[in-house]
Amino acid sequence: MVKIGILGLQGAVREHVRSIEESGAEAAVIKKVEQLSEVDGLIIPGGESTAIRKLIDKYGFMDHLKEFAKQGKPMFGTCAGLILLAKHIVDYKEPHIGVMDITVERNSFGRQKESFEADLAIAGVADDFTAVFIRAPHIVKAGENVEILAKYEERIVAAREGQFLGCSFHPELTDDHRLTQYFVNMVEEAKSKQFA
Ligand code: GLN
Repeated sequence: MVKIGILGLQGAVREHVRSIEESGAEAAVIKKVEQLSEVDGLIIPGGESTAIRKLIDKYGFMDHLKEFAKQGKPMFGTCAGLILLAKHIVDYKEPHIGVMDITVERNSFGRQKESFEADLAIAGVADDFTAVFIRAPHIVKAGENVEILAKYEERIVAAREGQFLGCSFHPELTDDHRLTQYFVNMVEEAKSKQFA
């Protein structure tokens, strides 16, 4: 069984634990840098990207997160987590972890729509996925190796680049665990290759 960490500094952490366990993997809330070596994949949860970034710096996580990515271990950024993974953020000079070849814009769905649900088709995952958007970002631009998995109103809201998966919404807030299951499969594949 693979073990998947959820960066537990701020945001929707517990819900991801449940979703991972429902998808047949083991979950670990990561609060200390040393715990990263114990997990095969990592979820960066939704919350507030600037707050999570401050805590990443405060607890010395940044270099270790970049090293985790270098080892080829899968990472899944949801909402704020997507912003943290992106190489480019609209109106920001520097990225945060900056490992996924995408440009994201924060809070892109307008004030009236701070929070809403939408049914999405996600390539390779589901035709009818109810996605919960909360002050969500979207992907403005994706590099050539990025596979676009879902769009909502012409905007990219889910994508994969090799070991990296990202989505604008909160897949952990419903009982539909198919996107988490997709990530669990990515982690299983990466782990089996490591030992091949
Ligand atoms: N608006 C938040 C940010 O920019 C993301 C919101 C979320 O994760 N639900 O970090």
